[in-house]
Amino acid sequence: MAKQNDQVCVVKGWEDGPVIDESTLNDDLSRHFYYTLGRNKVGESQLYLYNALALTIRDRLVARCRETNKHIEQQKGRKTAYLSLEFLMGRALGNAVLNLDLDQQVASALQEYCTELETVAQAEHDAGLGNGGLGRLAACFLDSCASLALPVVGYGIRYEYGMFNQSLKDGHQIEQPDNWLREGHPWELSAPEQAKRVKFFGHVQSYTDKDSREHRQLTGTQDVLAVPYDVPIPGYKNNVVNTLRLWKSEATDEFNLTEFNAGSYSEAVAQKNLAEQITMVLYPNDASENGKELRLRQQYFLSSASIQDIVDQWVAKHGEDFSDFAKHHVFQLNDTHPSIAVAELMRILMDDYELTWDAAWDITSATMAYTNHTLLPEALEKWSVSLFSRLLPRILEIIYEINARFLAKVAQQWPGDTQKQRALSLIEEGAEPQIRMAYLAIVGSFSVNGVAALHTELLKEGLFKDFYDLWPAKFNNKTNGVTPRRWVAHCNPLLSKLISQSIGDGWVADFAKISQLRRFYDDKKFHKQWQSVKTQNKQRLVDLVKERCDVDFDVTMMFDVQVKRIHEYKRQLLNVLHVIHLYDRIRRGDTEGLVPRCVLLGGKAAPGYYMAKKIIKLINNVAHVINKDPKAAPYLRVAFLPNYNVTAMETICPATDLSEQISTAGKEASGTGNMKFMMNGALTIGTLDGANIEIRDAVGSDNFFLFGAQTSEIDEIKSRYNPAKLVAENSDLENVMQLLQSGQFNLFEPGLFDDIINAIMSPHDPWLVAHDFESYIAAQKQVEHAYKDQYYWTQMSILNTAASGMFSSDRTIAQYSDDIWHLEPLTINDTHTNK
Ligand SMILES: *Cc1c(COP(=O)(O)O)cnc(C)c1O
Repeated sequence: MAKQNDQVCVVKGWEDGPVIDESTLNDDLSRHFYYTLGRNKVGESQLYLYNALALTIRDRLVARCRETNKHIEQQKGRKTAYLSLEFLMGRALGNAVLNLDLDQQVASALQEYCTELETVAQAEHDAGLGNGGLGRLAACFLDSCASLALPVVGYGIRYEYGMFNQSLKDGHQIEQPDNWLREGHPWELSAPEQAKRVKFFGHVQSYTDKDSREHRQLTGTQDVLAVPYDVPIPGYKNNVVNTLRLWKSEATDEFNLTEFNAGSYSEAVAQKNLAEQITMVLYPNDASENGKELRLRQQYFLSSASIQDIVDQWVAKHGEDFSDFAKHHVFQLNDTHPSIAVAELMRILMDDYELTWDAAWDITSATMAYTNHTLLPEALEKWSVSLFSRLLPRILEIIYEINARFLAKVAQQWPGDTQKQRALSLIEEGAEPQIRMAYLAIVGSFSVNGVAALHTELLKEGLFKDFYDLWPAKFNNKTNGVTPRRWVAHCNPLLSKLISQSIGDGWVADFAKISQLRRFYDDKKFHKQWQSVKTQNKQRLVDLVKERCDVDFDVTMMFDVQVKRIHEYKRQLLNVLHVIHLYDRIRRGDTEGLVPRCVLLGGKAAPGYYMAKKIIKLINNVAHVINKDPKAAPYLRVAFLPNYNVTAMETICPATDLSEQISTAGKEASGTGNMKFMMNGALTIGTLDGANIEIRDAVGSDNFFLFGAQTSEIDEIKSRYNPAKLVAENSDLENVMQLLQSGQFNLFEPGLFDDIINAIMSPHDPWLVAHDFESYIAAQKQVEHAYKDQYYWTQMSILNTAASGMFSSDRTIAQYSDDIWHLEPLTINDTHTNK
């Protein structure tokens, strides 16, 4: 490189770039609109105005991000890298304007274009780089880390296609690709000069160094470039802007050159596609793995690129002395997906920097921390040894060595117990030996956490019991949370205004303060305002349901909502049985005490999940029959909202009266939808599962509609489970099953729902739908009773919001930091960044 280029040229008086501040916002917006984007009219779509505004806001984020990074450098404290295959970010504009406190200025700037933020914001495409709760949790965590001024960087994949778009055809789910980058993604900044090289395939070779130490090295690998794209993550009014670094896969130049020199230009270009496939698409499976090779490539690609990034930064600053590395770095693994990072850090330290096994292991096992997200056995990732030996031969060697040393420990603890060795081995024996990735994560981590109190207890007693016996101190609980910025302040401006008028606006940054709302639970004037806000929010949802489903909801009716991924364990089916039960009562004229309801369901089914797709079809058929029956109209309306995503939830949760959290006990690790609804004043009907238990404890059992079998009862119930008997003994359930079996909901599609009927009637139904039906119907009766007394209902609604303080992800992240990460908050005053 020419000498000249190595010299840093700083423009005089511009150490941090040209001045941007309050006074330049209007000019910046018009400059981006007229010049960066080259427009002169606001057209039909607000896309260009949205892009100009996003760039204007991004300028302000970039300034703060630079300052934040400077502080992180200077502070020399610990840093966390949050590794996740999913970040379900949703839209960024409204959130950034809120966190930078620019509402007023943006509103006035947009006046010149005769529009307002809410309208312009509609032009933004959701960043749907996640399936559901796990990916949204990662997004809420980033907001909380920045808002608590913690030095945390998110690492993920820049999928070309995010979570599929869902539409309906004759009530069936249709999946369409989500080409979210088509119209550009103005928030990101790429840094191709910081690209990393990720190595696949190849052969392991040994060599001996000058001190006659043996080393291992990969040769003949097929390399892929990981190019970083940085997305700014603003903290709430604290001048901190953290980074989410998303990796895109690209072909290396010499990869192509080899082919090119062999005279096959076209083949070389085709090879490029192969490399770029890695980050092409998000796997749309929530809480289940499908074992596809490309998925393993994604996991290794993310893990390797992210660890290289951190290690390269370390070496640039400290040279090859890693003795203090673990003091300065933590890797938090969001579920088992990135657990291969354990072996990758070992590989880099040993093969690239010649550390001994023991030195590398001390560092690795002091920097890795693992969060488990599910107890469902089908979600526990396993990869075949044969796949590993082909794709990642050196990583396989390292996993074998970790396992050998671990099993020696097991043999010490349980001498002569070969059964125990087999049960705990990282390698599952069998015709096709498999690597148990969760075990790798546990063995390689200093912290293992569950995501709600019950979930962590079940991990310790069940799935990971032997590991808990070995290392009790590793295990800890971190109950999930959601960010009150997006999930109240941004999505429910009317409620936010009312809350701030009543208790001040300190609750947005310190959500524990929301408990002060309790003072108003018996205040008649406050009740009226609370109800008025809810009604206005319901009107927004009425409009959305009309537009998307062509169903007429009515703000005077109760809004009963279940939105989440469609899964048998979440029991949308139980909800449908209740809906059919209400319809059965209406048909029989048994409407005494019936509270008029609008029932909304929504959620995506994994494309290969047969039963989940059947359930969607059933919901739509039941909705169709009920909505066209004039007898039902005064009492019951049902809609399935297509394409449930973050943006839809921002309209849904402020409008909900009743939140359905009805999973089979012991199956939902935590849930976070339950928390969003609670914060917005919905009451919960739910089982004792996941964080529902903590929600009920926080708000009090009088303000929660509980039903269903408890975890401790499940085994016994299953041992004598007889749905036919339950149907025969319960006339409500009998009527519902008869309506289903009579073909009432599939008149022209005979046999369509046989598999659903059989699942409910099976003595082996793992989800115990028929068992919980009776207590669910009884709890729904209590709901009706409570809703009829609007004063009483409003009291409970206020108490729910007031008790939701602990479900802020700020609380969760403070606990991660105190117990696992040990981070020092940054202090950044606004001298350089008041822009
Ligand atoms: C919060 C959220 C989820 C998680 O919902 P659960 O009810 O906890 O399963 C899933 N998808 C989206 C879009 C969300 O916003």
